[in-house]
Amino acid sequence: MGWVIAEGARPSVAVAGSRDRFPVRRVFCVGRNYAEHAREMGHDEREPPFFFGKAAEALIEDAKVPYPPMTRDLHHEVELVVAIAAEAFDLTADRTRPCIFGYAVGVDLTRRDLQAEAKKLARPWHLSKSWIGAAPIGPIVPAAHIGHPRVGAIWLDVDGKRRQQGDLAAMIWSVEEIIAHLSRYDRLLPGDLIFTGTPAGVGPLHPGDRVRAGIEGLPLLEFTIVEPL
Ligand code: MN
Repeated sequence: MGWVIAEGARPSVAVAGSRDRFPVRRVFCVGRNYAEHAREMGHDEREPPFFFGKAAEALIEDAKVPYPPMTRDLHHEVELVVAIAAEAFDLTADRTRPCIFGYAVGVDLTRRDLQAEAKKLARPWHLSKSWIGAAPIGPIVPAAHIGHPRVGAIWLDVDGKRRQQGDLAAMIWSVEEIIAHLSRYDRLLPGDLIFTGTPAGVGPLHPGDRVRAGIEGLPLLEFTIVEPL
């Protein structure tokens, strides 16, 4: 029966080095968290953090990512993704680390033309940021294995050409500050993911493009953009 939502249909992400999967609840994303990217989008880097969301169903681990409909300007944004393991509510930054399960490389795919229109009309970004396949993600590496990456290269190549290049140390708001900030507005729950913003160099993707996204110390994320389904 097509209308019955099966048990176990909840989106999840692979955990590196195990057969476990991390069951995903919500996907939060931070806007403009690297000064150079804030500037390339025409903004002041000293603004407080702001957030938008993607549906958990936007996550995709496939090697093939379909070009979405209703856009002529699909952009890549490579980001460090933080996986939350324990409830976080009204925390100060120094108390957030025990809430972190681990880290992954993610790409916040964006229909930039739809986003530009939404900005112009002061409308929500939702459809520019969230659709099935809008959030390619690699395996989550537990912090128990790799600690908490705060310094290190973050980059994205398209067809072997470097497009984005930055360093985690250049984040305007640290992972701890982001979690603390969010935790004052809402209770973070086990299973929540946070995309922590992208360095400069965002740009367009087309069907056939091979994307390789990396963060020092984390497994590579590789996928190809394919023709719309
Ligand atoms: Mn982003």
